Amino acid sequence: MSKIPYKIYLEENEIPTQWYNVRADMKNKPAPLLNPGTLQPMTAEELEGVFCADLVAQELDNDTPYIDIPQEILDFYKMYRPSPLVRAYCLEKKLGTSAKIYYKFEGNNTSGSHKLNSAIAQAYYAKKQGLKGVTTETGAGQWGTALSMACAYFDLDCKVYMVKVSYEQKPFRREVMRTYGASVTPSPSMETEVGKKILAEHPGTTGSLGCAISEAVEKAVSTEGYRYVLGSVLNQVLLHQSIIGLETKTALDKIGEKPDIIIGCAGGGSNLGGLVSPFMGEKLRGESDYRIIAIEPSSCPSFTRGKFAYDFCDTGMVCPLAKMYTLGSGFIPAPNHAGGLRYHGMSSILSQLYHDGLMEARSYKQTEVFEAAELFARSEGILPAPESSHAIKGAIDEALKCKESGEEKTIVFGLTGTGYFDMVAYEKFHDGEMTDYVPTDEEIRAYLEKLPKTE
Ligand SMILES: *Cc1c(COP(=O)(O)O)cnc(C)c1O
Repeated sequence: MSKIPYKIYLEENEIPTQWYNVRADMKNKPAPLLNPGTLQPMTAEELEGVFCADLVAQELDNDTPYIDIPQEILDFYKMYRPSPLVRAYCLEKKLGTSAKIYYKFEGNNTSGSHKLNSAIAQAYYAKKQGLKGVTTETGAGQWGTALSMACAYFDLDCKVYMVKVSYEQKPFRREVMRTYGASVTPSPSMETEVGKKILAEHPGTTGSLGCAISEAVEKAVSTEGYRYVLGSVLNQVLLHQSIIGLETKTALDKIGEKPDIIIGCAGGGSNLGGLVSPFMGEKLRGESDYRIIAIEPSSCPSFTRGKFAYDFCDTGMVCPLAKMYTLGSGFIPAPNHAGGLRYHGMSSILSQLYHDGLMEARSYKQTEVFEAAELFARSEGILPAPESSHAIKGAIDEALKCKESGEEKTIVFGLTGTGYFDMVAYEKFHDGEMTDYVPTDEEIRAYLEKLPKTE
């Protein structure tokens, strides 16, 4: 048998032309978003005040398994997809493991992450609806960058509220966004009512995704011709990100490979949800079994230490409530360098699947994550994003377990992006100045006690 190549490519006719909606195969559907005023499920009409109409339809669709990807989006995907699936021969050798390791690399576009997969879809539907522009928040800056690229492509206005700590730590991300025509405001800001309120209550706060979401939503609903778009957490985002998993599955099928373990980092759950969707579908239908592991930072441990409950998606409590694993919408994590994983909640889809025992979760401290990042960079050549490095650490640990037991498991993980804009974090790590903040039980309990009462 010929050796499996380093990169498994797809032919033109193997590229997916439909997204896969894992909700269609879930027996226990994810709980609906609730109106924060009435605590009743949000209707399409209510959601359409905030989101584009076609995206609302996708958000509420729990039944259609496959949804056609519009031609305009397929054309854009062609610029940077299919993304490579790589056999990590060099890492395997370095570890001396009997496991086979593959990673799906989503960092091969200017925005540097998987977020572009959903950004282009959301911009497309906004344009189709005849809107002037969209507002959003960004944490580490990857989503804002992706959305500004997508908006430039469709000639839409793009207004980004960027978490203040990232705005200051990552000035280059801001300039990339401005290059693509977006306007970028550090959050919390004095531009919105909710921003003013948060600043009055927490002067000097470095912000959080939850705060920035509140500001972006307020701006969208108060400006004619604008809607709000979100880069993670929502059902529609997982749907768009299923392109990652569909390509991965096609490539693995082609070489006759079946993963035993699938690993991804989890901030709001979109890359992991996208990567695992087709595999989870088989698992839900009883066709195959896979171990699926979510990796999160110990500083923001939604799955591993949060509660499965209805909560606000934002700090300002203006957004609908989602049922999810949450640390409480008031939770502002320590300034961990994996900005994209600093969100208090988690996708409702993944939360339900985790609750039903269909996947596992694990958390790591940031210095051990950076050790894994460095090992990976030195063996596989790619400089990984801190977020992605959580998945690397998870994969390395599983591979080392195989080394001990001699098992030949096949491990697939999502390498979500590159770390070129995270060199301040790498610098801290190299200079021995990186800290490992882990919230105490009391801290977490205090936020969980403030969860909204919905029953
Ligand atoms: C945003 C981001 C993440 C986390 O977001 P998910 O929605 O959980 O996928 C992970 N990696 C990178 C590179 C990101 O930009």
